[in-house]
Amino acid sequence: SYEQILETRKTHLTPNLVAHFKKPLVIHEGHMQWLYDHEGRRYLDMFGGIVTVSVGHCHPKVNQALSEQISKLWHTTNIYMHPKIHEYAERLVAKFPGNLKSVCFVNSGSEANDLAMLMARIHTGNQDILSFRNAYHGMSPYTMGLTAHSTWRFPLAGVNNGLVHVMNPDPYQGIWGGAACRDSPVQTTRSCQCQGGCQAGDAYYNELEETFKYSLPRGKVAAMFAESIQGVGGTVQFPKGYLKRAAALVRANGGLFVADEVQTGFGRTGEHFWGFEGHDYVPDIVTMAKGIGNGFPLAAVVTTPEIAASLGQALHFNTYGGNPMASAVGIAVLDVIEEEQLQRNSREVGTYFLKCLEELQQRFEIVGDVRGKGLMIGVELVEDREKRTPLATPHVLEIWETCKDLGVLFGRGGLHGNVLSFRPPLCVGFEDVELALNTLETAFQQHMS
Ligand code: PMP
Repeated sequence: SYEQILETRKTHLTPNLVAHFKKPLVIHEGHMQWLYDHEGRRYLDMFGGIVTVSVGHCHPKVNQALSEQISKLWHTTNIYMHPKIHEYAERLVAKFPGNLKSVCFVNSGSEANDLAMLMARIHTGNQDILSFRNAYHGMSPYTMGLTAHSTWRFPLAGVNNGLVHVMNPDPYQGIWGGAACRDSPVQTTRSCQCQGGCQAGDAYYNELEETFKYSLPRGKVAAMFAESIQGVGGTVQFPKGYLKRAAALVRANGGLFVADEVQTGFGRTGEHFWGFEGHDYVPDIVTMAKGIGNGFPLAAVVTTPEIAASLGQALHFNTYGGNPMASAVGIAVLDVIEEEQLQRNSREVGTYFLKCLEELQQRFEIVGDVRGKGLMIGVELVEDREKRTPLATPHVLEIWETCKDLGVLFGRGGLHGNVLSFRPPLCVGFEDVELALNTLETAFQQHMS
């Protein structure tokens, strides 16, 4: 029974696992953008298992690829060669520009970022690594330090060694370009993209230069990590041009630039296959997870042969990375994205969703900001539009719960958990977005009444 399931979870699963909602959902089945609970109730999944179900729950083509592989070979470890990993490596690196031609398969986003940190340190001989405040890069001891939300880090010795957090250029809530400087000469648009007049990106860039001067020994750095759009941090989009300039500065000081594409890769942002392509620069290392495997534990680090060679100086090993099942799934996911034109769908449906959300914003004061790209969209709820004060958690939760009760699921992000996070499987259509919008509208109306 439902009660027994809750009891077992409480008794036998570690309490760090926090289920969403007052009455947590028990999900039994999923098909494409739909999830079904233990009573057979259907939910529109606008969160995709935290940005992971990229092509759809139990997508028939991915299922078929996996079951064919399962009946042939599960696992050997990379001590033997198997054709699938080679086929997959070729397919995956073909998606990258420049000299990003070497791939190492791992099992999770944290592991991918761990490996990228190691690569950068070994390759450059430098220790310090920069990441943004509000960033999320993982929960392993190494990446926990890189993740820059105080609530997600344990105060343990070693966790934060050699890590420096820099100001994230958040156009809505940031120190520059946000509410605090709206009336100053540094003008910003509602959700600033720095196209033209806005100088906020400059202010953050100057701060980054200062960090090199004052916080890093001899100004040297091993790497800087950046999400192309901050995901868990609340769908934060950086000013245009900022990441390109930051990458140049990092390289000039001996470091590598790492793009964390765990959320933004595989067509999620619609316009490009990789989020970094929207920032007009090519990283030295790219990490990916989540959408790569549509829910299968698969992740990867892609880099240049030169950087990969540095790691090759020693044995670096993991047991499962890119095993035959994972590789079969990875190939099928790439096939489906291409065959079903899911990147284009992400762009078209996402653009429509964003436009409709902007209309909703006109009618509801609590909608402070609507932002994102493709099917990676954030709706920031505020107490006060002028001051941009985050909407208090109980109110956000009430709206969230109402939507769940009405059959629409999505996530919450940002430091205050007040940014509604929409990252559905890329197969959602216009009518699904309509359902999400109508549901949101009902929840907002209930909240106002
Ligand atoms: N990077 C980003 C941008 C993420 O959003 C996440 C997970 N939320 C990770 C890394 C870590 O991935 P995993 O949970 O698979 O370790």
